Amino acid sequence: MAELEGLEFGKSDFVLLDEVTMEQFMDNLKLRFEKGRIYTYIGEVLVSVNPYRQMDIYGKENIDAYRGRELYENPPHLYAVSDAAYKAMKRRAKDTCIVISGESGAGKTEASKYIMQYIAAITNPSQRAEVESVKNVLLKSNCVLEAFGNAKTNRNDNSSRFGKYMDINFNFNGDPTGGHINNYLLEKSRVIHQQDGERNFHSFYQLLRGGSNEMLESLHLQNDPTVYVYTREGAATTTSNNDRTSHKAVMNALEVIGFSKEEIDSVFQILASILLLGNLQFESDGESVQIVGLDAVNHVSELTDTDPESVSKTLLHRTVATGGGEVIDKGHTAEEACCGRDAFAKALYERLFGWIVSRINSVIEVKDYNPVLHGKNTVIGVLDIYGFEIFDNNSFEQFCINYCNEKLQQLFIEIILRQEQGEYQREGITWQHIDYFNNQIIVDLVEQPHKGIISILDEACLTVGKVTDTVCLDSMAQAGPASSLHLPQVSPPHFQLSPTDKSMDFQKHFRIRHYAGDVTYSVEGFLDKNKDMLFQDFKRLMYNSANPVLKEMWPDGHLSITEVTKRPLTAATLFKNSIVALVDKLACKEPYYVRCIKPNEMKSPVLFDDARCQHQVAYLGLIENVMVRRAGFAYRQPYARFLQRYKMTCEYTWPHHLMASDREAVETIVTQHGFQDDVAYGHTKLFVRTPRSLYTLEQERAAL
Ligand code: ATP
Ligand code: MG
Repeated sequence: MAELEGLEFGKSDFVLLDEVTMEQFMDNLKLRFEKGRIYTYIGEVLVSVNPYRQMDIYGKENIDAYRGRELYENPPHLYAVSDAAYKAMKRRAKDTCIVISGESGAGKTEASKYIMQYIAAITNPSQRAEVESVKNVLLKSNCVLEAFGNAKTNRNDNSSRFGKYMDINFNFNGDPTGGHINNYLLEKSRVIHQQDGERNFHSFYQLLRGGSNEMLESLHLQNDPTVYVYTREGAATTTSNNDRTSHKAVMNALEVIGFSKEEIDSVFQILASILLLGNLQFESDGESVQIVGLDAVNHVSELTDTDPESVSKTLLHRTVATGGGEVIDKGHTAEEACCGRDAFAKALYERLFGWIVSRINSVIEVKDYNPVLHGKNTVIGVLDIYGFEIFDNNSFEQFCINYCNEKLQQLFIEIILRQEQGEYQREGITWQHIDYFNNQIIVDLVEQPHKGIISILDEACLTVGKVTDTVCLDSMAQAGPASSLHLPQVSPPHFQLSPTDKSMDFQKHFRIRHYAGDVTYSVEGFLDKNKDMLFQDFKRLMYNSANPVLKEMWPDGHLSITEVTKRPLTAATLFKNSIVALVDKLACKEPYYVRCIKPNEMKSPVLFDDARCQHQVAYLGLIENVMVRRAGFAYRQPYARFLQRYKMTCEYTWPHHLMASDREAVETIVTQHGFQDDVAYGHTKLFVRTPRSLYTLEQERAAL
């Protein structure tokens, strides 16, 4: 394999390292990065290092070079993995998925876009209009989702602040017929507040900087993000994104996807309402609370098609049902009004985002598919989800995101490591067991019923009365994961209350020993974020809007306060359920993995930060991955299939063999080509250790 590129570029598959040590792994990774070879295999797993520069490897010639070829026929590339997933789907009618992982800024979203582009390029050779239109919508949906779901963070100028899993459906011809997008946990707290140096979601700046004067005027906005509280902090930070150009692209994409004019107008009216709401203030004269900035209230009511009195009333009061069944209006304090307004702004954005996704889904969903007429409908799923996060201050969002990564790592272990070992056992091949860190224990720590952290959080949220974050933390310590899970005593333990960092207030923090490193979470705000409370009055206000688009986003607003009996599921439980469903979805597909590595923190195309990279290699489990792969065999095929493909390379098997079994015939081919030391014979399959042996066979086959 390495021969394909020349040895000066290092080993193109880590399986070929002389010795599997961290040192050799890192040397190879670094050498290849420095030589502009950003992709390297571990068997079928692709390791990708973000080049932080435009690479000339994604053009048409590259697409042609990888189309329909085997992994080992070309240098490692995302296209090769995409093709492998596509081929498995098309030839074997298997549902496949490509799981892209890595930390923020490692290149997951870029990879997912190249995968989509590749699939779009190699399908529908006859240019059928309906297939082209599906492809177009799939590609354009990225632009819209990035505008509304991505933001500049300190780690990445275009950071995805939501998780995305996209299924692409194919017909029996292997052409895309539709798709479906699932989105996970949008980081909505960003709507009202961003850390220093970060921005709100791109959509706000794109509108304010890119919207025409006429458009902004009709939305009662000024073309200056510093005017609005929600965008002010981020307005000064520079970004490589050009908001103006992006705005045009988004408008175009919305139209191409099929959003009606009314729908597009509604989208921007909601964005404008959020910005205007953020500038409202509340003043108390000791007796009652008033809104400062009634103009803005009128504008919000105009933009949301509601009446101004209702808007004011909802901002200042909430309806409560008394014990006696009476319904009364209770005035907010100024502080409560502020919190209510912020919760409303966040919910407006979250529902807008969810609605955009479902609107795109309604366009791309496969309609009128008849499996009898059209054959099996197969799927390739692409997962681009937030990577493991360790910040200076880790909150509820990081807790959820890191839990999600634990689940995905568990799946990776399950599939790549455990299944691999299982297959060798089944086939009766001698196998040396490899120890790897099994993170099931952390998954249990978070999600176990009754004892896990999520359960304890939920219980605290249900408790009537004042349960504070710190009280909840205490119950975690007493009844919770630390004691009742009977975790093995390791040092430091998997769950701990007091962090080693003495500068932190230990009563407000807990630490989890994740597979990817120790993370200390600040428990402050955990309960509120988990409860995710929004007064029913806001929901009703939106449900009563005369704008059908807005009304559609708030179906739960039809309930009056006395009807809202059941407590909605908490944010953590909803998230957990969605991730469990995601993992189930992935587990029944044939997975392909892209493991992305971020070379440095400076976004530099030349800097390879050894320590940072090594850390990622370690926690992605890549060394164990190589070991398993090497102790094992890179390639395996049932005897009959192997024979079918290579029988012409050997005089004793071509055109037919006279041996007692296919296995014997395969042994003959292998021995004649002299790689008998590189294989093992299982009960039903031939196992080949290095792809190089097969490469020789392939070349011979091609030369015939
Ligand atoms: P997050 O988790 O924050 O969403 P991510 O892993 O999705 O991060 P990307 O947004 O894909 O990261 O990549 C960050 C930036 O790195 C891109 O905006 C781009 O500038 C650069 N980059 C990533 N991959 C490539 C590539 N293959 N070629 C050129 N530049 C790239
Ligand atoms: Mg991303």
